[in-house]
Amino acid sequence: MLTLSNPSLLCSQLYINGEWVNADSGAVMPVFNPATKEKIIDIPNAGAVETRRAIEAADVAFQSWRNVVAKERSAVLKRWFKLIMDNQEDLAMLMTAEQGKPLAESRGEVAYGGAFVEWFAEEGRRVYGDTIASNNATQRIVTLKQPVGVVAAITPWNFPIAMITRKVAPALAAGCSIVLKPATETPLCALALAKLAEDAGVPAGVFSVVAGNKARDIGGEMTGSSIVKKLTFTGSTEIGKVLMEQCAGTVKKTSMELGGNAPFIVFEDADLDAAVVGAMASKYRNAGQTCVCANRFLVQDTVFDAFTEKLVAAVKALKVGNGADDGVTIGPLINDAAFDKVSSIVDQATSNGARVLVGGEGSQGEGENFYHPTVLVDVDDSMDVYNEEIFGPIAPIFKFSTEEEAIRIGNDTPFGLSAYFYSRDIGRIWRVSEGLDYGIVGINEGIISTEVAPFGGVKESGIGREGSKYGIDDYLEIKYLCMGGV
Ligand code: ADP
Repeated sequence: MLTLSNPSLLCSQLYINGEWVNADSGAVMPVFNPATKEKIIDIPNAGAVETRRAIEAADVAFQSWRNVVAKERSAVLKRWFKLIMDNQEDLAMLMTAEQGKPLAESRGEVAYGGAFVEWFAEEGRRVYGDTIASNNATQRIVTLKQPVGVVAAITPWNFPIAMITRKVAPALAAGCSIVLKPATETPLCALALAKLAEDAGVPAGVFSVVAGNKARDIGGEMTGSSIVKKLTFTGSTEIGKVLMEQCAGTVKKTSMELGGNAPFIVFEDADLDAAVVGAMASKYRNAGQTCVCANRFLVQDTVFDAFTEKLVAAVKALKVGNGADDGVTIGPLINDAAFDKVSSIVDQATSNGARVLVGGEGSQGEGENFYHPTVLVDVDDSMDVYNEEIFGPIAPIFKFSTEEEAIRIGNDTPFGLSAYFYSRDIGRIWRVSEGLDYGIVGINEGIISTEVAPFGGVKESGIGREGSKYGIDDYLEIKYLCMGGV
């Protein structure tokens, strides 16, 4: 039984137009703990009808929220940020219960997620237009930036708070209203965020949450609606492509944070101990279930054995178990499908000649969704570990011999979200940074996410940037005023 010091954060209703409601049909959906597979709670299972109602309410709310001055919107967001941090421990417990990540990581995510709210409370006050010199002496040219309007957001389960706040906070700061569909697996953090937003004074209809497992119905309503002017999505490239197609009918703006296949390159001049620390953080955080996780380790032949040995030693020190237990560093995978995918990726590699140095198996008594952290060698580019986003605690290590080869292999994927490399040669650092076709490059650094920097991908990893001074642009339209007869 999940006991919170603020029990009002365990919400069992949808939040639509400032009211806590059930699904019209009365249908409910269970939310499970992935570590124990026990049911935490039932919540209403929303569909198209509830989504439409939330969108219509957002349309009405937008007309007044857009006219609230930026300073006041900022004050509301600051209150929301404070409430998130005041309730950090409860939110972390909720997150570990529904998502599985170790409690220390959940606490970190609450702070990271909250940081977007604080950041955009500040950035929302710094939206500027331009004056432009006209070619005509009797004209003046000015630009305004205005909120795009009603936004729909669809978010994944791997970061049940941060993926929401980095969409909702800039939307609200810019003056937009927003309807959120959180991941089916992790609606509880989303509803708790809505509760705190309500307490912070976000007006009715400005932020609604429609949770449920009928993703296609909810998504179809969002993408088909002519009221919704923008869709912001974080999830798989496969679903991102479907949603982009659906948005074409009403020519919506879209922001897409999609999958990755990050190379993690270790050059012979690297500090190998630092590279192992970065590798552990990048690969094994959240049990390998992040879109910026290192996916392919590329290690120069001269340091291959030394790096591999150090990495294996570090992996052996990880502790697998229920994220709520002390000292656990690797929690469960999110569900059966995730477990099956990870096991089949490893099996496909080993049956084609890959060697397991550590791990390579599921539960050793922890429970059905657990997969032990794994290191694979003797891998090649025909294997799924090379071509697919693994989304699990599996590190395949490939060998290269030259810098050009490392860049070529690094870029040999349709994805372009994050890449990492370790080197101490300043010339190489510039060449490789410029040569990697990625939106984010970590240099001698395995953790790159922060609210102050622009997060986003190129190629099939997405469109748009979240966080930083650029993150609010995704929620603003530029209007050009041409004033004649001056
Ligand atoms: P993941 O593998 O991380 O779950 P998905 O892309 O499947 O990635 O899911 C990300 C989000 O998109 C979740 O909220 C999920 O419920 C939602 N989703 C999945 N399929 C659809 C769809 N056809 N339409 C709208 N949303 C969808």
